[in-house]
Amino acid sequence: MQDYLERLKSGSLKLYALEKELPPAEAVRIRRKYIEQVTGSDLGNLGSYTIGIDNVVRKNCENMIGAVQVPVGVAGPLAVHGEYADGEFFLPLATTEGALVASVNRGCGAITKAGGAEIRILRDGMTRAPVFAARSVAHAKEIADWVSSHREEIRTVAESTTSHGKFLDVTTSVTGTSVFVRLEFDTKDAMGMNMVTIASAKVAELIVDSTGARLIALSGNMCSDKKPAAINLVRGRGKSVVAGVFLPDALICEVFKTDAATLTEVNLRKNLVGSARAGSLGFNAHAANVIAAMFIACGQDPAHVVEGSSCITTVDQAQGGIYVAVTLPSLNVGTVGGGTSIATQAECLSLLGVSGGGDPPGSHARKFAEIVASGVLAGELSLLGALGAQHLARAHQQLGRG
Ligand code: NAP
Repeated sequence: MQDYLERLKSGSLKLYALEKELPPAEAVRIRRKYIEQVTGSDLGNLGSYTIGIDNVVRKNCENMIGAVQVPVGVAGPLAVHGEYADGEFFLPLATTEGALVASVNRGCGAITKAGGAEIRILRDGMTRAPVFAARSVAHAKEIADWVSSHREEIRTVAESTTSHGKFLDVTTSVTGTSVFVRLEFDTKDAMGMNMVTIASAKVAELIVDSTGARLIALSGNMCSDKKPAAINLVRGRGKSVVAGVFLPDALICEVFKTDAATLTEVNLRKNLVGSARAGSLGFNAHAANVIAAMFIACGQDPAHVVEGSSCITTVDQAQGGIYVAVTLPSLNVGTVGGGTSIATQAECLSLLGVSGGGDPPGSHARKFAEIVASGVLAGELSLLGALGAQHLARAHQQLGRG
């Protein structure tokens, strides 16, 4: 070990190159020791983990020094009636926010007592949008026209890069001499960002060769990946999912200690009017809380919480109760690829019955999306209830403080 530490200190061995000379576990141990020495810190707990890291250091994390442990709680059982998820599920939630799991658990109880959440996936397509430069606005229009009239050629080239991905659509947007080409794919059980980026690179080559356009960037931000964006809210990106439940008056009173009119008014004035006044892209109470906790537990890309948070929560007055729904236009999830095969994350997916590829391909990711959406519904109900009954501060005082 001393020899490696000396070489790292002298600069003759780069920190990222340790795996070229050592097995992954040893490389990670020496890198952590080096960082401890140069920063004067004690990273003993970071070095205590059970996950196998041979693939992690190759696919998930460069310059690895250890693993952070995030507590995982379960909420449920949650009764779910989707087209892919049908049954009762315990939701794994990785969080350090006291009161979150308890709150989602209460929402799960209400939904299950009410007979379960119904869920539908409205559309399913992951996007990548390269930006090209044209010589003039006329040339820009020519490029956009060429793309529109060569869809089948684009499909063939795109699908040549993947055995699972299917080309769905292509749309163009011209702004001055910039041409954005938004490509959309069914990525089956993969969240699909790597898959669509690889496919888009091939399509971009075709467009450059055929039109004289200059490729400026493979991602031109009209995708729009990992940024709050109206395009994802309006057109959808990844899976667009809707989940709803009818709550009878007696159940609202029993579980939430409030009534239908109060929940309706809290939703209207907070989630709809308040969010509009704030210029928010999310018209919900805390969809991001459930999405973040499930994404971290289940090996999803946590940066996609940004897009998932553009959720709209609605409450309809109905005979003898209310119908509460969440609409998630942009839920980006996968059960293969990314962090989904890391042992602890794979276990969380497997407790939902969705680890790995589904049969048929795509069915696991869709089932998972339906379960996440119903978890968001549970979280929304519980927080609306706590606000309606004026219990929010009390719950956090009891459960969320050190
Ligand atoms: P990936 O791990 O790069 O690739 C998943 C691959 O699994 C697919 O391409 C597919 O190979 C294969 N596969 C096997 N069984 C499958 C099934 N049942 N359904 C679908 N595919 C199956 O994962 P990804 O989902 O494309 O990308 C996720 C990663 O991208 C995450 O780590 C995320 O953080 C990262 N990311 C990348 C970008 C970017 O710009 N590149 C942006 C944001 C996030 P074939 O294609 O050969 O069929």
